[in-house]
Amino acid sequence: MTEPDTTPRTGKRVLLAKPRGYCAGVDRAVQTVEEALKLYGAPIYVRKQIVHNKHVVRTLEAKGAIFVEENEEVPAGATVIFSAHGVAPEVYAQAKERSLKAIDATCPLVTKVHQEARRFAAEDYDILLIGHEGHEEVIGTAGEAPAHIQLVDGPDGVDKVTVRDPSKVVWLSQTTLSVDETLETVARLKTRLPLLQSPPSDDICYATSNRQHVVKEIAPDCDVVIVVGSRNSSNSVRLVEVALDAGARAGYLVDFAHEIDDAWLADARTVGVTSGASVPDELVQQVLGHLAERGFTDVDEITTANERLTFSLPQELKRDMKAAATARA
Ligand code: SF4
Repeated sequence: MTEPDTTPRTGKRVLLAKPRGYCAGVDRAVQTVEEALKLYGAPIYVRKQIVHNKHVVRTLEAKGAIFVEENEEVPAGATVIFSAHGVAPEVYAQAKERSLKAIDATCPLVTKVHQEARRFAAEDYDILLIGHEGHEEVIGTAGEAPAHIQLVDGPDGVDKVTVRDPSKVVWLSQTTLSVDETLETVARLKTRLPLLQSPPSDDICYATSNRQHVVKEIAPDCDVVIVVGSRNSSNSVRLVEVALDAGARAGYLVDFAHEIDDAWLADARTVGVTSGASVPDELVQQVLGHLAERGFTDVDEITTANERLTFSLPQELKRDMKAAATARA
């Protein structure tokens, strides 16, 4: 006979989004630093935050990674890893000049946008890059063809656009934007430039779209949506915006469970929980534990997609790992 469930019912519940957290590009980038530390030993230099998450950066620092802003901070001849967000070609050139051993952890889906930018620039298109000014990914992509690329920072940036030939214009985008806002930007661009071409395939990546999609599903039923992620994580910030647009009555971004203010939960019966693509799931589990201590013990995981994509490690690292394994044999 099955024992009766004696768990007290509080009427408070959590809707846990799936997919959430680590995407294939972040997983690869973090593994790249970990494997490089094992193979070459500490310190390993990483240009910019490898992914935009405080916890991940602190954990890798504790293992011997040193995060720098620019190549000049890396001692000549040392190993430097470029972050998942990608870099402009001049950054590779600087690394070469300083005889740095560069390992490129750029997400392959960002590399795809770089390739599109190079291709359309070679065909002399004007390229309208939809993205957030100052974001590392946008700086890297724009650096592929600065003379051909102009940034369009959301729908309000459309009026500033000027092109040489309205019949030879294409739009590309940052990978971590709001899907809906980008569609709005493109629609506005098309009213000014009816012959505007679209990218050959979606630039907003599968992980960004999937995380936004599931948040849209749960948000209308949520009094509060808590997104675990860092402030400089574009896709995490977008999740809060998407949750609010989709009907959540409140939405907050936290790096850690202890940042949750009890006042946010005071009148809540249903709390939505998700996390950005650079967030390890242990941080989400800590949030669930924090909520359970406050009576939110019923957790329903709402799944709208199953992700199976993985990326292999950068070639240059794999080559050295293979050589080391052969030497040991
Ligand atoms: S969010 Fe998308 S583009 Fe960015 S690292 Fe993850 S998979 Fe790659």
